Amino acid sequence: MFHKIAVIGAGTMGNGIAHVFAQKGFEVNLVDVNQDQLAKALQTISKNMERQVTKGTLSADEKNSAYGRLHTYNTLKEGIHDVALIVEAATENTELKLKIFKELDELAPEEAILASNTSSISITRIASATSRPEKVIGMHFMNPVPLMKLVEIINGYATEAAVTESIVALSRQLDKIPCVVNDYPGFIANRILMPMINEAIYSLYEGVAGVEEIDTVMKLGMAHPMGPLQLADFIGLDVCHSILKVLQDGFGNPKYAPCPLLTNMVTAKKLGIKTGEGFYTYTPGSKELVVSDRFKNQNLF
Ligand code: NAD
Repeated sequence: MFHKIAVIGAGTMGNGIAHVFAQKGFEVNLVDVNQDQLAKALQTISKNMERQVTKGTLSADEKNSAYGRLHTYNTLKEGIHDVALIVEAATENTELKLKIFKELDELAPEEAILASNTSSISITRIASATSRPEKVIGMHFMNPVPLMKLVEIINGYATEAAVTESIVALSRQLDKIPCVVNDYPGFIANRILMPMINEAIYSLYEGVAGVEEIDTVMKLGMAHPMGPLQLADFIGLDVCHSILKVLQDGFGNPKYAPCPLLTNMVTAKKLGIKTGEGFYTYTPGSKELVVSDRFKNQNLF
Protein backbone atom coordinates (compact mmCIF):
# COMPACT_ATOMS: atom_id res chain seq x y z
CA MET A 1 0.00 0.00 0.00
CA PHE A 2 2.82 2.43 0.82
CA HIS A 3 5.64 3.11 -1.61
CA LYS A 4 6.68 6.61 -0.73
CA ILE A 5 6.42 8.16 2.71
CA ALA A 6 7.44 11.43 4.34
CA VAL A 7 9.07 11.98 7.72
CA ILE A 8 8.67 15.44 9.23
CA GLY A 9 11.53 16.46 11.53
CA ALA A 10 15.08 15.18 11.00
CA GLY A 11 16.22 15.13 14.64
CA THR A 12 17.01 12.14 16.85
CA MET A 13 13.83 10.25 16.00
CA GLY A 14 13.26 11.51 12.45
CA ASN A 15 16.62 10.29 11.21
CA GLY A 16 16.08 6.87 12.80
CA ILE A 17 12.58 6.54 11.32
CA ALA A 18 13.82 7.61 7.86
CA HIS A 19 16.69 5.11 8.16
CA VAL A 20 14.38 2.18 8.90
CA PHE A 21 11.89 2.98 6.12
CA ALA A 22 14.66 3.50 3.53
CA GLN A 23 16.35 0.26 4.58
CA LYS A 24 13.08 -1.62 4.07
CA GLY A 25 12.68 -0.34 0.50
CA PHE A 26 10.47 2.75 0.86
CA GLU A 27 11.22 6.05 -0.87
CA VAL A 28 11.54 8.55 1.98
CA ASN A 29 11.10 12.31 1.86
CA LEU A 30 12.74 13.74 4.96
CA VAL A 31 11.52 17.27 5.75
CA ASP A 32 12.98 19.72 8.26
CA VAL A 33 12.84 23.50 8.52
CA ASN A 34 16.49 23.44 9.55
CA GLN A 35 18.91 22.70 6.69
CA ASP A 36 21.73 21.80 9.11
CA GLN A 37 19.53 19.17 10.75
CA LEU A 38 18.89 17.58 7.35
CA ALA A 39 22.61 17.45 6.59
CA LYS A 40 23.33 16.05 10.04
CA ALA A 41 20.56 13.45 9.67
CA LEU A 42 22.00 12.17 6.39
CA GLN A 43 25.44 11.90 7.98
CA THR A 44 24.01 10.02 10.98
CA ILE A 45 22.04 7.63 8.79
CA SER A 46 25.10 6.95 6.62
CA LYS A 47 27.28 6.32 9.68
CA ASN A 48 24.67 4.03 11.28
CA MET A 49 24.17 2.08 8.05
CA GLU A 50 27.95 1.75 7.71
CA ARG A 51 28.00 0.22 11.19
CA GLN A 52 25.41 -2.33 10.02
CA VAL A 53 27.63 -3.15 7.02
CA THR A 54 30.61 -3.69 9.34
CA LYS A 55 28.49 -5.97 11.51
CA GLY A 56 27.31 -7.89 8.44
CA THR A 57 23.59 -7.15 8.94
CA LEU A 58 23.45 -5.04 5.73
CA SER A 59 25.45 -5.44 2.52
CA ALA A 60 27.31 -2.48 0.99
CA ASP A 61 24.94 -2.60 -2.02
CA GLU A 62 21.88 -2.58 0.23
CA LYS A 63 23.32 0.39 2.09
CA ASN A 64 23.87 2.33 -1.13
CA SER A 65 20.37 1.59 -2.42
CA ALA A 66 18.77 2.48 0.93
CA TYR A 67 20.72 5.72 1.16
CA GLY A 68 19.68 6.54 -2.43
CA ARG A 69 16.02 6.32 -1.41
CA LEU A 70 16.39 9.29 0.97
CA HIS A 71 15.37 12.72 -0.31
CA THR A 72 15.55 15.88 1.79
CA TYR A 73 13.30 18.95 1.68
CA ASN A 74 12.97 22.21 3.57
CA THR A 75 9.23 22.69 3.17
CA LEU A 76 6.17 20.53 3.70
CA LYS A 77 4.81 21.54 0.33
CA GLU A 78 7.74 19.99 -1.56
CA GLY A 79 8.04 16.95 0.68
CA ILE A 80 4.49 15.63 1.06
CA HIS A 81 2.43 16.30 -2.05
CA ASP A 82 2.68 12.73 -3.40
CA VAL A 83 3.04 10.48 -0.35
CA ALA A 84 0.61 7.94 1.13
CA LEU A 85 1.87 8.23 4.70
CA ILE A 86 3.42 11.00 6.75
CA VAL A 87 5.19 10.29 10.03
CA GLU A 88 5.61 13.50 11.99
CA ALA A 89 8.62 13.55 14.35
CA ALA A 90 9.07 17.28 14.91
CA THR A 91 9.82 18.93 18.25
CA GLU A 92 7.49 17.91 21.11
CA ASN A 93 5.35 21.03 21.37
CA THR A 94 1.56 20.97 21.19
CA GLU A 95 1.09 24.27 19.35
CA LEU A 96 3.77 23.33 16.79
CA LYS A 97 2.22 19.92 16.15
CA LEU A 98 -1.28 21.42 15.75
CA LYS A 99 0.12 23.87 13.20
CA ILE A 100 2.02 21.14 11.32
CA PHE A 101 -1.03 18.84 11.19
CA LYS A 102 -3.25 21.64 9.91
CA GLU A 103 -0.76 22.20 7.09
CA LEU A 104 -0.32 18.48 6.44
CA ASP A 105 -4.08 18.17 6.12
CA GLU A 106 -4.16 20.98 3.57
CA LEU A 107 -1.18 19.79 1.51
CA ALA A 108 -1.15 15.99 1.66
CA PRO A 109 -3.11 13.76 -0.75
CA GLU A 110 -6.69 13.24 0.43
CA GLU A 111 -6.17 9.55 1.23
CA ALA A 112 -2.84 9.98 3.03
CA ILE A 113 -2.53 8.75 6.62
CA LEU A 114 -1.09 11.29 9.05
CA ALA A 115 0.87 9.67 11.88
CA SER A 116 2.63 11.30 14.83
CA ASN A 117 5.61 9.97 16.76
CA THR A 118 4.67 12.12 19.78
CA SER A 119 5.67 10.70 23.18
CA SER A 120 2.88 12.34 25.10
CA ILE A 121 0.59 14.71 23.19
CA SER A 122 -2.97 13.47 22.71
CA ILE A 123 -3.54 12.00 19.22
CA THR A 124 -7.19 13.05 19.46
CA ARG A 125 -6.04 16.64 20.07
CA ILE A 126 -3.60 16.52 17.14
CA ALA A 127 -6.32 15.00 14.93
CA SER A 128 -8.66 17.86 15.84
CA ALA A 129 -6.43 20.23 13.83
CA THR A 130 -7.28 18.30 10.66
CA SER A 131 -10.40 17.62 8.60
CA ARG A 132 -9.54 13.89 8.56
CA PRO A 133 -9.34 12.74 12.21
CA GLU A 134 -10.17 9.19 11.09
CA LYS A 135 -6.83 9.07 9.25
CA VAL A 136 -4.72 10.38 12.14
CA ILE A 137 -2.87 7.86 14.33
CA GLY A 138 0.07 7.63 16.73
CA MET A 139 3.13 5.72 15.51
CA HIS A 140 5.43 5.90 18.52
CA PHE A 141 8.86 4.51 17.70
CA MET A 142 11.44 3.99 20.43
CA ASN A 143 14.94 5.45 20.53
CA PRO A 144 17.25 4.33 18.88
CA VAL A 145 14.76 3.49 16.14
CA PRO A 146 16.92 1.10 14.05
CA LEU A 147 17.56 -1.06 17.14
CA MET A 148 14.33 -0.94 19.13
CA LYS A 149 11.63 -3.42 18.11
CA LEU A 150 8.52 -1.78 19.55
CA VAL A 151 6.12 0.54 17.76
CA GLU A 152 3.36 1.71 20.10
CA ILE A 153 0.39 2.42 17.84
CA ILE A 154 -2.09 4.87 19.32
CA ASN A 155 -5.69 5.01 18.19
CA GLY A 156 -7.13 8.50 18.47
CA TYR A 157 -10.82 8.79 19.40
CA ALA A 158 -11.79 8.84 15.71
CA THR A 159 -9.08 6.68 14.10
CA GLU A 160 -10.74 4.21 11.74
CA ALA A 161 -10.02 0.48 12.03
CA ALA A 162 -8.67 0.19 8.47
CA VAL A 163 -6.04 2.84 9.25
CA THR A 164 -4.94 0.99 12.38
CA GLU A 165 -4.76 -2.29 10.45
CA SER A 166 -2.60 -0.79 7.73
CA ILE A 167 -0.20 0.78 10.26
CA VAL A 168 0.04 -2.53 12.13
CA ALA A 169 0.88 -4.33 8.87
CA LEU A 170 3.36 -1.63 7.91
CA SER A 171 5.13 -1.87 11.28
CA ARG A 172 5.57 -5.61 10.73
CA GLN A 173 6.96 -4.89 7.26
CA LEU A 174 9.56 -2.70 9.00
CA ASP A 175 10.45 -5.72 11.13
CA LYS A 176 9.00 -4.09 14.24
CA ILE A 177 6.53 -5.40 16.80
CA PRO A 178 3.37 -3.26 16.88
CA CYS A 179 1.27 -2.83 20.04
CA VAL A 180 -2.06 -1.04 19.66
CA VAL A 181 -3.22 1.14 22.55
CA ASN A 182 -5.84 3.81 23.14
CA ASP A 183 -5.29 7.53 23.43
CA TYR A 184 -5.03 8.40 27.13
CA PRO A 185 -2.23 10.40 28.77
CA GLY A 186 1.20 8.81 28.36
CA PHE A 187 -0.34 5.99 26.28
CA ILE A 188 1.19 2.81 27.80
CA ALA A 189 4.97 3.23 27.45
CA ASN A 190 5.29 6.53 29.29
CA ARG A 191 2.38 6.02 31.67
CA ILE A 192 4.32 3.13 33.18
CA LEU A 193 7.92 4.24 32.55
CA MET A 194 7.71 7.81 33.85
CA PRO A 195 6.26 7.02 37.30
CA MET A 196 9.07 4.46 37.69
CA ILE A 197 11.70 7.06 36.80
CA ASN A 198 10.01 9.60 39.11
CA GLU A 199 10.01 7.07 41.96
CA ALA A 200 13.72 6.38 41.38
CA ILE A 201 14.37 10.14 41.63
CA TYR A 202 12.25 10.33 44.81
CA SER A 203 14.30 7.48 46.29
CA LEU A 204 17.46 9.49 45.64
CA TYR A 205 15.87 12.75 46.89
CA GLU A 206 14.77 11.12 50.13
CA GLY A 207 18.24 9.61 50.64
CA VAL A 208 17.01 6.02 50.49
CA ALA A 209 19.98 5.10 48.28
CA GLY A 210 22.58 6.62 45.95
CA VAL A 211 22.51 6.84 42.14
CA GLU A 212 24.55 3.68 41.57
CA GLU A 213 22.61 1.66 44.12
CA ILE A 214 19.23 2.62 42.66
CA ASP A 215 20.32 1.81 39.11
CA THR A 216 22.06 -1.41 40.12
CA VAL A 217 18.99 -2.72 41.98
CA MET A 218 16.85 -2.19 38.90
CA LYS A 219 19.44 -3.54 36.45
CA LEU A 220 20.35 -6.68 38.35
CA GLY A 221 17.10 -7.21 40.21
CA MET A 222 14.68 -6.59 37.36
CA ALA A 223 16.94 -7.39 34.41
CA HIS A 224 16.56 -3.87 33.02
CA PRO A 225 19.37 -3.11 30.56
CA MET A 226 19.71 0.40 32.03
CA GLY A 227 18.84 1.73 35.48
CA PRO A 228 16.00 4.31 35.67
CA LEU A 229 18.33 7.25 36.47
CA GLN A 230 20.64 6.45 33.57
CA LEU A 231 17.60 6.03 31.33
CA ALA A 232 16.27 9.43 32.48
CA ASP A 233 19.61 11.01 31.50
CA PHE A 234 19.37 9.28 28.14
CA ILE A 235 15.81 10.45 27.47
CA GLY A 236 16.50 13.98 28.73
CA LEU A 237 15.35 15.21 32.16
CA ASP A 238 13.33 18.03 30.55
CA VAL A 239 11.46 15.45 28.46
CA CYS A 240 10.75 13.29 31.54
CA HIS A 241 9.55 16.39 33.41
CA SER A 242 7.18 17.46 30.66
CA ILE A 243 5.71 13.96 30.24
CA LEU A 244 5.06 13.75 34.00
CA LYS A 245 3.23 17.10 33.76
CA VAL A 246 1.11 15.69 30.91
CA LEU A 247 0.21 12.71 33.13
CA GLN A 248 -0.50 14.93 36.14
CA ASP A 249 -2.68 17.35 34.16
CA GLY A 250 -4.32 14.69 32.00
CA PHE A 251 -5.44 12.51 34.92
CA GLY A 252 -5.76 15.35 37.44
CA ASN A 253 -3.86 13.12 39.85
CA PRO A 254 -1.01 14.49 42.01
CA LYS A 255 0.66 11.06 42.12
CA TYR A 256 2.29 11.95 38.79
CA ALA A 257 3.75 15.28 40.01
CA PRO A 258 7.46 15.50 39.11
CA CYS A 259 9.81 15.04 42.09
CA PRO A 260 11.13 18.45 43.29
CA LEU A 261 14.69 17.23 42.63
CA LEU A 262 13.80 16.59 38.97
CA THR A 263 12.24 20.07 38.72
CA ASN A 264 15.37 21.63 40.23
CA MET A 265 17.66 19.78 37.83
CA VAL A 266 15.61 20.88 34.82
CA THR A 267 15.60 24.49 36.04
CA ALA A 268 19.39 24.29 36.51
CA LYS A 269 19.72 22.87 32.94
CA LYS A 270 21.25 19.60 34.13
CA LEU A 271 19.31 17.65 31.54
CA GLY A 272 21.36 14.46 31.21
CA ILE A 273 23.47 13.37 28.23
CA LYS A 274 22.49 16.33 26.05
CA THR A 275 23.96 18.88 28.48
CA GLY A 276 26.81 16.65 29.71
CA GLU A 277 25.38 16.27 33.22
CA GLY A 278 22.35 14.76 34.92
CA PHE A 279 22.55 11.96 37.47
CA TYR A 280 25.84 11.04 35.76
CA THR A 281 28.43 13.19 33.98
CA TYR A 282 29.26 12.55 30.34
CA THR A 283 32.58 13.18 28.63
CA PRO A 284 32.54 13.07 24.82
CA GLY A 285 34.22 9.90 23.57
CA SER A 286 34.07 8.15 26.94
CA LYS A 287 31.67 5.29 27.66
CA GLU A 288 32.47 5.22 31.37
CA LEU A 289 29.48 5.92 33.59
CA VAL A 290 30.52 8.43 36.27
CA VAL A 291 28.08 9.58 38.96
CA SER A 292 27.71 13.34 38.93
CA ASP A 293 29.73 15.09 41.70
CA ARG A 294 26.49 16.45 43.11
CA PHE A 295 25.33 12.95 43.99
CA LYS A 296 28.62 11.49 45.20
CA ASN A 297 27.87 12.72 48.70
CA GLN A 298 24.30 11.76 49.50
CA ASN A 299 23.85 14.60 51.97
CA LEU A 300 24.45 17.38 49.49
CA PHE A 301 21.10 17.52 47.79
P1 NAD B 1 14.65 16.61 18.07
O1 NAD B 1 14.66 17.90 18.78
O2 NAD B 1 15.89 15.78 18.03
O3 NAD B 1 14.19 16.85 16.55
C1 NAD B 1 13.07 17.63 16.20
C2 NAD B 1 13.28 18.14 14.78
O4 NAD B 1 12.07 18.77 14.36
C3 NAD B 1 14.39 19.19 14.67
O5 NAD B 1 15.32 18.78 13.69
C4 NAD B 1 13.64 20.46 14.24
O6 NAD B 1 14.39 21.28 13.35
C5 NAD B 1 12.43 19.84 13.53
N1 NAD B 1 11.31 20.76 13.36
C6 NAD B 1 10.83 21.68 14.23
N2 NAD B 1 9.78 22.34 13.69
C7 NAD B 1 9.58 21.80 12.46
C8 NAD B 1 8.64 22.05 11.40
N3 NAD B 1 7.71 23.00 11.52
N4 NAD B 1 8.73 21.32 10.28
C9 NAD B 1 9.70 20.37 10.14
N5 NAD B 1 10.61 20.09 11.10
C10 NAD B 1 10.55 20.79 12.24
O7 NAD B 1 13.43 15.78 18.70
P2 NAD B 1 13.27 14.20 18.81
O8 NAD B 1 13.88 13.73 20.08
O9 NAD B 1 13.66 13.56 17.51
O10 NAD B 1 11.70 14.08 19.01
C11 NAD B 1 10.80 14.19 17.94
C12 NAD B 1 9.46 13.61 18.33
O11 NAD B 1 9.63 12.24 18.70
C13 NAD B 1 8.81 14.28 19.54
O12 NAD B 1 7.43 14.32 19.35
C14 NAD B 1 9.18 13.35 20.70
O13 NAD B 1 8.24 13.40 21.75
C15 NAD B 1 9.12 12.01 20.01
N6 NAD B 1 9.92 10.95 20.63
C16 NAD B 1 11.18 11.18 21.07
C17 NAD B 1 11.92 10.13 21.63
C18 NAD B 1 13.34 10.34 22.10
O14 NAD B 1 13.86 9.48 22.82
N7 NAD B 1 14.02 11.42 21.70
C19 NAD B 1 11.37 8.84 21.71
C20 NAD B 1 10.07 8.63 21.22
C21 NAD B 1 9.36 9.69 20.68
